Amino acid sequence: MTTKGEKVGQASTGKLTGLASLGAGALRFASRVRSARPTPRAASIALAALCMVVLMRASQGPMFAPAGSSDSGSSAAPTQIAALPTATAVPTPTPPLTPNLPMPEESRGSALVTPKPGAEFYHGNPYGSEIYITIDDCSNWARVEGALEVARAKGVDLTLFPAGRYIDSAKAEAARVLQKAVAYGDEIDNHTFSHSYIYGGSLVAAIKADLDAQLRAVRTALGDPSYQEWFVRTPYGSAMGTPHLRTAAAQEGLAIVKWSIDSNGYYPGSTVPWVMSNIFDSSSLKAGAIILMHDDYTDMQALPLVIDRIQAKGFTVGGVLKKILIDPAATAVVGGSGRPAVAAHPEIVMAKEDYAPTV
Ligand SMILES: [Zn+2]
Repeated sequence: MTTKGEKVGQASTGKLTGLASLGAGALRFASRVRSARPTPRAASIALAALCMVVLMRASQGPMFAPAGSSDSGSSAAPTQIAALPTATAVPTPTPPLTPNLPMPEESRGSALVTPKPGAEFYHGNPYGSEIYITIDDCSNWARVEGALEVARAKGVDLTLFPAGRYIDSAKAEAARVLQKAVAYGDEIDNHTFSHSYIYGGSLVAAIKADLDAQLRAVRTALGDPSYQEWFVRTPYGSAMGTPHLRTAAAQEGLAIVKWSIDSNGYYPGSTVPWVMSNIFDSSSLKAGAIILMHDDYTDMQALPLVIDRIQAKGFTVGGVLKKILIDPAATAVVGGSGRPAVAAHPEIVMAKEDYAPTV
C-alpha cells in the first residue's frame, strides 16, 4: 500500500524520467547531426530543440502531478487539468431545526383536537369573553420591554410578533427582552425575518426560509433550540388565503393569524384618543377579537388604557394567542366527527381550514 506522499513521489519521478528521456532523445539527435555534420550550428539546433521540449512540457501542466494522477493523465487536455481538485472552502453545515409542529401534549387534557398547521385565523372563540392583544415588529426593544412590564403589572399576557431582522440588529437587548417575555408568560410568534411583503406567487421555499430564519433568531435569542412558535402573521397581512403561504406555514408547523381590529397607531401623527377610538368604536370589538398593535410610541402609550377599557367592558384580556388553538370551547368535538363545535356555526369564521384530530 502506498501513501499519498509516495504516490506524488512516484508520479513526479515518472514525469522527470519522461523529461529525461526526451532530453536524451534530443541529445542523440544532436549527436547524430553532429556525427553527420559536426557544426556548432547543429549543436545549437539540438539545444534549442531540447529547450522547446522542456518548455512545451512545462506549459502542459505542473511538474508535480497531484496524488492519484498518472503520467498518462498529465498529458490530458488542458480542460481536464483545469478541473484538478483545488482547495475549496468547506461550507459550515446549518443544523436542522427542531420541528415546530404544534405539540399534541399541549392540548391534551384541555382540548380534544388541535388545528391543522396552515389553518387561517381572524379571531378567537366568539362565545368566550377573551380579547387578545398582539404587538408586531418589535423594532424598539425599550418600548417592547415597557409593554411587557405594563402587561405584567396588570396581570395579563401579550403575544409578540417580532420580525427576525430586528432581533438580529439588536442581539443582546433583543435577547434580554425576549427572555423576559417568556419568563413573564408572554408568547413569541413568527412575523418573518425580512418583514417583506409576501406575494401570492412567492415560492413556498422562499416563504419557508423567511419563517425558518425568524424562528432561528428567536431561538438563538432565547437560548432555547426547541422554543415552540404557534402562528405566523405575515407582514402587512399579506398573502392571506393564498396556497403558497398555507403550504409554507404548514411545513413550518404554524397556523396563520391576521387580526380583527387594527389600532392604526403606527400612522404618523396618530394620537392616543384616535387609537382608542379605532379599537373601541370598532364593530369588531367582541369576544375573540384579536387586536393588532405595534411597538410604536402612540400604541405603547395607549396600551395600559386599552387593557383597562377591555376589562371595564367585561371582557378578559385573553392571554397568549395559542389559547385560541387549545380553547376547549373552540375545539370541542361535535358528535365524534372530529370537527370542532364552531364548525356547527357556519357564520363564524374561526378558521378557514378544518381542524385535525390529535387522537
Ligand atoms: Zn409588521
